[in-house]
Amino acid sequence: MTALKIGILDGDDIGHEIVPASVTVAKAAAEKHGLAIDWQPLPIGRTALDTHGHTLPPSTLEALHKLDGWILGPIGHRAYPKGPNAINPHPILRKQFALFANVRPTRSYPDIGCLYDDIDLVIVRENNEGFQPDRNMLVGNAEFRPNDEVTLSMRVISRTGSRRVAKAAFELARHRKKHLTYVHKDTVFKLGCGMFVEECRKVALEYPDVRVDDVIVDTMAMRLVRDPQSFDVVVTTNMFGDILSDEAAGLVGGLGMAPGLCIGEGDIAMAQATHGSAPDIAGKGVANPYAMIESTRMLLDWLGHSRRKPEAVAAAASMSQAMTQALRDAKARTGDIKGKGNTASMTEAILRALG
Ligand code: ATP
Repeated sequence: MTALKIGILDGDDIGHEIVPASVTVAKAAAEKHGLAIDWQPLPIGRTALDTHGHTLPPSTLEALHKLDGWILGPIGHRAYPKGPNAINPHPILRKQFALFANVRPTRSYPDIGCLYDDIDLVIVRENNEGFQPDRNMLVGNAEFRPNDEVTLSMRVISRTGSRRVAKAAFELARHRKKHLTYVHKDTVFKLGCGMFVEECRKVALEYPDVRVDDVIVDTMAMRLVRDPQSFDVVVTTNMFGDILSDEAAGLVGGLGMAPGLCIGEGDIAMAQATHGSAPDIAGKGVANPYAMIESTRMLLDWLGHSRRKPEAVAAAASMSQAMTQALRDAKARTGDIKGKGNTASMTEAILRALG
């Protein structure tokens, strides 16, 4: 039996708390179902800058190429010192491994402060182009200032980028409720969003079994609050997806409840929660580990299907049940979701529920 090779990259700040929690839970689930995993801790972020002289050491990048996937903790790049070796690793990881689809689910659980008790949707955010100026250029940065009065920020939309993220979203929709909504603003961005919409429509022809509709992004911001139940899979461009997925997290208890998985056309995936490194609560042991543990669960489930390993799918299913059970325990839950516990008590409750 070949073991899955999974990297552990803590990231920064609360990453040092929630990534170890995720690995502990995943290890217990793997053991329960006889799933062999070769875990490989790799340096990244501020710690790597101190120990290896770079926030993304070449040895880490090289090691990632040999893995099936990895868990990436949140990166606190805004606090890095200025310097060529203190870069934000995100754009490089997502580009080098063509992880162009960021799959971000939003789900209600009872008693944790959700605004509705029946939300179950997934936002698929394009990950590698759009408005993000640090990742939409081969060389340079897509923001520039010709004089002190004027700043230009460019958005990149490509047919290939739009088509492939649409395809990833349609595949997901096909395995869920067969309903996909694409979100854009082609009324104003006639060329950019227009191209995204054209590609979504073309891909839709390959999925006649999936019901399709589209919503303008500002209307979407409102409808997400008023009737989130009317959506199942939503696909959109990078910045719109980033904003809407944080909004969606706000409906179900906040950023601690916002997991994510970055995927592409290849056979590698990266578990990455939607939230940042939360320096304000780092080191206090109070971070909600759900988003990171659920991201890790999504990785195991994805690897189980892509590598045809039913034991990985079973481990992921057990993690899901255990988290649902643990979230009912107000003494164990973290404070952000109406609990009296902390990172450790919530992790222990999940482990107990795993049996
Ligand atoms: P980024 O731009 O890197 O995504 P951000 O500016 O959105 O980061 P975060 O680091 O995500 O900021 O934190 C935003 C707020 O949410 C902070 O007050 C933080 O404490 C809270 N938060 C984020 N993640 C968690 C978590 N896992 N558990 C509890 N609170 C969290």
